Amino acid sequence: MNVAPLIVNGAADISWLHTGYFEDAPVLADPAIARLIALEETRQRESVELVASENFVSRAVLAAQGSAFTNKTVVGYPGRRFHAGAEWADELERLAIERACAAFSCRFANVQPHSGIQANLAVFRALLSPGDGVLSMSGQAGGHFSHGGGSNLSGSMAQASFYGVERKNGLIDYEEVRSLSNAHKPKLIVAGGAAYPRAIDFAALRTIADEVGAKLLVDIAHFAGLVVASAHPHPFPFADIVTTTTYKSLRGARGGLILTNDEDIAVALEKALSPGVQGSPLLHAIAAKAVCLGEVLRPEFSAYGRAVLENARAFAEELQALGIPVSTGGTDTPLVIADLRSLGLRGQAMVESLDRAGITCNRCEIPFDETDPAQTSGLRFGLSACTTRGLETEGSRQVARWIAEILHGHASGDKAMATREAEIKLRAAALMAPLPLYPETGGDGR
Ligand SMILES: *Cc1c(COP(=O)(O)O)cnc(C)c1O
Repeated sequence: MNVAPLIVNGAADISWLHTGYFEDAPVLADPAIARLIALEETRQRESVELVASENFVSRAVLAAQGSAFTNKTVVGYPGRRFHAGAEWADELERLAIERACAAFSCRFANVQPHSGIQANLAVFRALLSPGDGVLSMSGQAGGHFSHGGGSNLSGSMAQASFYGVERKNGLIDYEEVRSLSNAHKPKLIVAGGAAYPRAIDFAALRTIADEVGAKLLVDIAHFAGLVVASAHPHPFPFADIVTTTTYKSLRGARGGLILTNDEDIAVALEKALSPGVQGSPLLHAIAAKAVCLGEVLRPEFSAYGRAVLENARAFAEELQALGIPVSTGGTDTPLVIADLRSLGLRGQAMVESLDRAGITCNRCEIPFDETDPAQTSGLRFGLSACTTRGLETEGSRQVARWIAEILHGHASGDKAMATREAEIKLRAAALMAPLPLYPETGGDGR
C-alpha cells in the first residue's frame, strides 16, 4: 500500500525548533564549541600522546558514537526491555555481546557499563556485602581506586585490605597476598591496576583464592588490547570475572565491559549493574563498542597489540639507557612507569614541563613513594595511542630521548628550560603531525 505523506499543519518550520536544528553541522550551529573541537583536534594531531588511558578510535567508532542510537532509551537487556521500539537496540547489543565473547574467548559479556568503574561497582554489588572482605592491590603499588579504595564508593561496599609489591623488584608480593588472604578470608581478590606494568601471575592468584574460597576478579583495563592480540597472558580460565575499560589499549569507545564464564555470576551481574549501579545504557556507546569489538577481531589488531608492546619496551629501554630508571625495569604492558626519585624530581612539575614540550602524560605514585601524592615521584606513560598513529620503535626511542633531555635539564638546574621545551615542542609536532589521523574537520567533529 502506498500512502502519501500526510501534512496536517503544513509547517516545515516548527517555531519551537531553532533554524537548522536538524540540519546544521556543529560548526554552524555552535561556533564556540566548534572552535574548541577544532583546537582539540589540532592538539591531538601535534602532540605526542603518552597518556596511558587514551587512544585514537577509528572514524567508524566516532560515527557510531554520534549516531541516532544517541536518542534511544532502553532499560533492561535484549529481549527484556522496559521501553518499546527496542528491536534494533536489541540486535545491536546482541552483536556487541557476541563480539565481546569472541574477542575475549568467554561465554558471557555485559556490554552496558558506562565506564570501568561502573563495571567494578557492579561486581562488588553482585558478590559482596558491606561486612565482606576484599583483597586488592594498593593504590601506591599501582592498584586502582575502584577496587575498594576509600575515595571510591567501592570502599564502602566491602572491608578492603591491600597487598603491595616487593621492594627489591617492584613485582607483586605473592607471599603477602597469600598471608593477607589467609588472615582476612576475603570473598573477592582483585588483580590488575592503573600503574602496574608487569604481567600478573593469574594462576598463582587463582590458587591463593581457592585456598580461602574467594572469587578472583581481574581488571585488565590497561592491557585488554594486548590480551585480545595474544601479546599478553590471558586472565581466563583463572579469573572468575574480568572487567575492562574499552578505551585504553582496546582502542574503542569510552565505557566498560564485564566478562565471565560463570552463568550464575553473569545473571547476578545483570541486576547488580542495572538497576544496581546505573539505569539506561548508553546505546550509542554500545554501538561504538560493537564497532571496536569488530575491529579487534581483525588480524591487523594482533599486529597492533604486538607493536604496542614493542614500542613500550623500546621506550623503557631507551629511558633506562639514558639514566631514567623505570619501575620493575621494564614492561609487559603498554605502561612504562618512570621513577624520578634518583633524579630528585617531582612528577607533577615534570608533567607540566613535558606538556609545554608537546608530550602529554600523567604523574603517578610509585611503590614506596614518600612524596606528597599531589606531586608524586613517578611519571606514567602509555604507548597505545602513539602506536595507533603508526609510531614505530625508533620514534618511541626518539620520544624517550626528548623526555630524558627535559628531565635531566631540570635535575641539573638548567636555566634555559623554557627554550628547550619550546624546541622539543616543535620537533614533537614535526614527528607527529605527518602521522595518520582523521581528516581535519575544522570543528565539525565528524
Ligand atoms: C582506567 C581504569 C578504570 C576506570 O575506568 P573509568 O572509565 O574511568 O571508570 C578502572 N580500572 C582500571 C584498572 C583502570 O585502569
